[in-house]
Amino acid sequence: FTGKTGSELLTEQIKKFKVYEYQHVPIVVKESVSVYDAISTMFLEDVGTLFVVDDKACLTGVLSRKDLLRASIGKQDLNAVPVHIIMTRMPNITVCRKEDLLLDVAQNLINKQIDGIPVVKDTASGLEVVGRITKTTITKAFVELITDEHI
Ligand code: ADP
Repeated sequence: FTGKTGSELLTEQIKKFKVYEYQHVPIVVKESVSVYDAISTMFLEDVGTLFVVDDKACLTGVLSRKDLLRASIGKQDLNAVPVHIIMTRMPNITVCRKEDLLLDVAQNLINKQIDGIPVVKDTASGLEVVGRITKTTITKAFVELITDEHI
């Protein structure tokens, strides 16, 4: 018997959750694609956040549902506007790395009021996007605390 309280055990368990165990495949688009194509990709891939990359597959921006909605309510031709015009861009993007604690990423989702965070790998040409953590990821990890298995 370790003498630990239930809440101590729970804290211990939560601090074992690492990004790499939970990350999903990132959905990325190139900077040059149109707003129209980004909207299509968001529907086809069934995600709420797209990550924007350059020719070297390095992170340059983020597109949320509201970014695309905002761009759609004007009169401009959505086929003619490239996403790099409307995206949130580096260096203002919150990222995480595979060894980070899921708890720290969850805190960032709340503090920054965002739905998703890209998992990146540092390379010579920039930050390569290798995964994504979203509010859904955190919900699944939360349920797992009770069921104790990956779902
Ligand atoms: P929505 O706007 O659809 O509610 P979010 O809350 O995720 O979705 O996004 C809010 C704003 O924050 C958007 O302008 C989006 O581009 C930006 N954003 C989303 N994810 C990130 C991130 N990881 N880092 C910085 N900004 C982000």
